[in-house]
Formats: sequence, C-alpha cells, structure tokens
Amino acid sequence: MASTFEWFREFRDVRKIEALAAAIADMRPGPLSVMEVCGGHTHVIMRYGRNQLLPTAIRFVHGPGCPVCIIPKERIDQAIALARCDDVVLVTLADMMRVPGSSSSLIRERAGGRDIRMVYSPMDVVKIAADAPEKQVVYFAIGFETTAPLTAALVQTVLERHTENVLIHMNHVLVPPALDAVMDAEDVAIEAFIAPGHVTAITGTGIYRDLCERHRVPVVVSGFEPVDMLQSVQMILEQRAAGRAEVAIQYTRAVRPEGNRKAQALVSQYFTVRDSFRWRGLGEIPASGLALKPEYGCLDAEVRLADRLPVAPVNDHRVCICGEILRGRQEPTQCPAFGRACTPGNPMGACMVSSEGACHAYFTYQQVR
Ligand code: SF4
Repeated sequence: MASTFEWFREFRDVRKIEALAAAIADMRPGPLSVMEVCGGHTHVIMRYGRNQLLPTAIRFVHGPGCPVCIIPKERIDQAIALARCDDVVLVTLADMMRVPGSSSSLIRERAGGRDIRMVYSPMDVVKIAADAPEKQVVYFAIGFETTAPLTAALVQTVLERHTENVLIHMNHVLVPPALDAVMDAEDVAIEAFIAPGHVTAITGTGIYRDLCERHRVPVVVSGFEPVDMLQSVQMILEQRAAGRAEVAIQYTRAVRPEGNRKAQALVSQYFTVRDSFRWRGLGEIPASGLALKPEYGCLDAEVRLADRLPVAPVNDHRVCICGEILRGRQEPTQCPAFGRACTPGNPMGACMVSSEGACHAYFTYQQVR
C-alpha cells in the first residue's frame, strides 16, 4: 500500500506540474479572472508560485472561503462576552482564538484567566461537559458545509445522552449564497470558479448548478495539490474554448456528484437555513447560514443566553481591508498594514490570523514568488 507521502507525491510531481503548465500555455488563454473560493487553494497558489507557472492573462481572485475570516467582529464579541461569564466554558477551534474582536480576542481573554478551550473535534465538547457539570459549556461552531456535519453529530450525541450543560453558538455558513453575492456585486467580474473540494465532498455538485446557469460560469471542484489546481485551470479553459459553463469535478478521488448523503441527512435533521447571516466584507447575505432548528432551541446559545450577547454590527479596523479581499476586490499587499503593523505574529485582521487567510498566505509565501 502506498504511504501518505507517496500518495501526495503524485500530485506534487515537478514533471507533471511543468507538463500541465506547458499545456495551459499552449492553449494561449485570453484574459481570465478565476476565483479560488477556498483559502486552502489560495495557499497552494501562493506556495507553488502562480506567476512562474501560469500565463499572466490568468488572474486568480481570492474568495470568501476561509471560515475564520468571514466571521464578523460582532460574533467574535459574542464569544468573548460568553467567555467572560463565570459559569461558562467557551470551546472553539484553534484558529478562532487569535481573531481580534472589538477590543480583545479569545486568546487574550484566556491569558486573563477565562476558561476557553481549543479543540480539534466538536466531539471533545462532550468530555469537557462531563468533566465540568457545574458549568455551561458553549461550543462556538464555525465552518462551511464541511464541518457542519461534525457539529450536527455533536448535537445528536448531546441529545442522545441527555447532556444538559452543552449549548451551541452556531456560525456555520454556506458557500453558494456567498458566491452568488460575489457575482451580483457590480465591481467584481469573475469568469470561473475553482470550487472547494472538501465542501463538495459533503454537499455534492448540485449546490453549484444555479450559479453555473444563472451566471454562465464554469465551476471546477478542485483538490488541494498543485497538480490538482493546474488540472482545474486546464478544465476551465477547455470549457471556455468549447463555450460551456458546467460544474465539473477534478477532485474525483474525494468528490462524488451526489456528495455524502449520510452527512447531508445529519445536517438537515438538526439544522435549518437562517433567513440571513452577516459575513465580513460581504455584509448580510440571505439564506447563507445555518441555525439549530426551533425544536432544538434548548441547545441554542443565541436563544438560551440571548441577554448576554451584544448584537450591534461592528466594522473592521479602519485600516484593515479584509472585507475587500474577501469580496475579491483587493489583494493583501494593497493593505497599508500588510507586513508592517499586521503580521501573523501580531494580526490586526482575520485574514492574517487563519492558516487559510489570504494575508497569511501572502506573508508566508511572498518571498518565494
Ligand atoms: S494585512 Fe492585516 S490589516 Fe491588512 S487586510 Fe490583511 S488582516 Fe487586515
């Protein structure tokens, strides 16, 4: 059986990369703006040097696919407000810890003595709750369609075990409405999408059908290695040359057209689509977030602890252009704070914090471009 290294080597093979780059150059593409939706794809593009590999006519526009980056400040303030309650243990994923809220961050609050835990899996919440029966354990749930099933599995477990001290603060968001919002913006012209493989492995490709049909743009679901990305660009160019605008799967080793039906069923069992959710940079987007169904309101931190949560929208620091980057209007190097006042060690905005953030990717890899 192939080792993990051998498995990935095939998709990082220099000769394959060069052959694909040459094949793309031979297609002599005209100007083309491709949005790579996922922050993981942004990192591959920066790490492997898009300028050296692809014709300059192909422009990558970074999309709103970093789950930490798109959470607006007021929801981080809500997490901080909950963490400041003596009867609460606040639990979340690691990247969330350093994202600045209005005046603090979760990591600063933890340094100040608040009980805030980082977990790698939502299921870790079950043990934390069992070990602290006198506390209300609030899971600050973030992520796209990829991680929503894991939160749904937590909800199921909590209900089955009749655990009474777990609440969920829901921040799960949906990719297609955000891409629609990007396409509907008058100041951004996207001609094709490289869609996130992990999200589509759960949802299936049907979620992009409206986007393709309404806006006549090719959507290629891509893996996260350089060979994957180049093949995806090649597939987009083939569609353009043939005058087609379809959903196609490059990442066939992980994605099926129908997605993961078991995960989909779990999500629809416990969650419903919100009327609207506010995204950093994109503002309110209708039907773009998930909430617990009303019948599970007993687990909903926004219902049970509503009186403790600040709700007024909060804008980013006046210098930070994270919002513009997430909308595909600007690049990180256009921010006056980039690499100066704002670095991964001292982030001013969410896009510099997360390992999937565009500013973080530019800062990490710009020296090898
Ligand atoms: S460099 Fe920092 S301040 Fe500027 S947009 Fe990125 S995260 Fe915001």
